[in-house]
Amino acid sequence: MTRFAPSPTGFLHVGHAYSALFAYEAAQRSAGRFLVRMEDIDPQRCRQEFERAILDDLLWLGIRWSGGVRHQSSNLETYGKAVDRLRQASLIYPCFCTRQQIRSEIAESSRAPHGPSGEMLYPGICKQLSEVDQARRILSGERYAWRLDVAKAVAKTGPLEWFDYREGEVPAEPEKLGDVIIARKDAPTSYHLAVTLDDHLQGVTLVTRGQDLFHATHIHRLLQSLLGLRTPRYYHHNLILDHAGQRLAKRNRALTVRHLRERNTKPDDVWRLLNLGPTSRRTG
Ligand code: GLU
Repeated sequence: MTRFAPSPTGFLHVGHAYSALFAYEAAQRSAGRFLVRMEDIDPQRCRQEFERAILDDLLWLGIRWSGGVRHQSSNLETYGKAVDRLRQASLIYPCFCTRQQIRSEIAESSRAPHGPSGEMLYPGICKQLSEVDQARRILSGERYAWRLDVAKAVAKTGPLEWFDYREGEVPAEPEKLGDVIIARKDAPTSYHLAVTLDDHLQGVTLVTRGQDLFHATHIHRLLQSLLGLRTPRYYHHNLILDHAGQRLAKRNRALTVRHLRERNTKPDDVWRLLNLGPTSRRTG
């Protein structure tokens, strides 16, 4: 079983269409099921209008999914329970930092470790807080997120591996991403937690997604082990890049499926453009 899990924060562009078609084809090849899930935990950026447009574009492309569309926003309680379990096991800690504080801390420190995509890793400011300080700040109403204590979690699980169809067996290296956020300040979950739980709860056996999320899988594998969840297999596919070799951005309207439709492009042309679907079936 595969899935396509867009965040409804913009119109479907050809990069997403590629991802959706890729997952759909993979399910069809193995006579498996294909699911659609809305990753809509960000209340500021997700919009109904985008969700409707994404689903409509998928149907136009000829993609049909099994069952209803799962919404992460309707499952916050499930994620909250997993956060509670991780908290009871002392594997997460409250983080009160603002982005600005993190940036200044990194700017002042002589060592600024970076993640695999060049992002700055959390410098551990709130990891040092005593339980008394944590409780005092929570009670005073300060907003906080929950961060995973990756070192502690790894010490608990021991070495882990996951399988990627292009890379083979991959040793999990969650330390590369640092103490990631498990529950945001504005939601009782984060992308990492929700996606890992949902793939398990929905019975997804093959996760196909862009190469940009390859390293996130290290964290997902760790969460699976901590929460007793199944580990699917992974296929991280290439990203569709624009002429300048950049990832497609949602704001680039010319590359949305909506725009192509308005210009009378046919679904088959999109499949052909992406070298998937009817074309890939024809050429084997
Ligand atoms: N919601 C993510 C996105 O739109 C995809 C997550 C995933 O496939 O794991 O980029």
